[in-house]
Amino acid sequence: MGDVIGFIGLGIMGMPMSKRLRETGYEVIVYDISSEPVEKLVEVGAKKSASPKDVACRSDVVISMLPTPTITKKVIFGEDGVNAGIRRGSVYIDMSTSDPLLTSHIAEVFEEKGVRTLDAPVSGGIKGAREGTLTIMVGGCRATFERVKDVLSCMGKNIMYTGRVGSAHTLKVINNMLLAMNMAATSEALALGVKAGIEPTMMRDIMSVSSGRSYALEVKVRDFVFPRNFAPGFTVDLLNKDIDIALNLGRRLGTPVLLGNSIRQLYESLVAKGQGGKDASIIITFFEEMMHTKKIKGKPS
Ligand code: NAD
Repeated sequence: MGDVIGFIGLGIMGMPMSKRLRETGYEVIVYDISSEPVEKLVEVGAKKSASPKDVACRSDVVISMLPTPTITKKVIFGEDGVNAGIRRGSVYIDMSTSDPLLTSHIAEVFEEKGVRTLDAPVSGGIKGAREGTLTIMVGGCRATFERVKDVLSCMGKNIMYTGRVGSAHTLKVINNMLLAMNMAATSEALALGVKAGIEPTMMRDIMSVSSGRSYALEVKVRDFVFPRNFAPGFTVDLLNKDIDIALNLGRRLGTPVLLGNSIRQLYESLVAKGQGGKDASIIITFFEEMMHTKKIKGKPS
């Protein structure tokens, strides 16, 4: 418990993750542009800070959990950013889902200052964050990974090393592109079944133990589609950000990403309808409308 942890970005994910660190006994220094989550964490013993620079000056390990690469760049290199305060010998961990190009750039700049960088994006959503059961994929120097493994263990159950810095962010955006495809494919299948007169709960129960099963079918349908509750969760906007990073990767590698490009258009149609802030499982409504089915509801599993 020796390390002081700085945590920047206290949203849907960052709030429960930093809370777990505090509850495990770490000294935690927090920052967010919104004061509400900061006050909530102060109530459980975290310390406030004035800026990302202030967090970095006072921490051994600095973690960020921010929405987009543009915001992460500003928090690191902007005025009063992490770069202005981070101490030699400390570790920076970006746990957001971000762009591996930015991550590699940050790592290069920090390396010159004697600071090690890891990318450690997570999977498992708000439930995993609350329960400390996230899957965490980690890129960067293996010795640095070993040094902070105890810190990561407070937040995650499956903690896996992926190789060079940026490799975990690469893997994570590819995972999320696949999630986007699975959610759309599952929605189309459910809507077609309902159109054909199949009862949705039975369809989910049978496909969940058949070859069509997926996280989208088992978890997203249970938690969002069947109860018709599209409060996030994981927003359409954040998912689109991840697909865009994956598609850019394809462009840089000079390779077509056929389904990824098509799926991006589908989710863009939700943004056009003003649904960017909803949980991405709201893609079900696209297929319900296209096939003129009733709203698909079902029983909890
Ligand atoms: P969120 O929008 O709920 O939270 C982001 C937080 O960052 C907010 O509290 C916001 O006020 C803060 N913030 C924004 N700009 C800031 C700035 N300049 N300085 C300091 N704080 C700032 O987002 P989230 O859902 O918690 O996602 C965070 C990251 O985790 C994203 O990269 C997302 O893709 C990834 N992720 C999300 C989920 C999920 O289920 N929500 C799951 C896995 C990974």
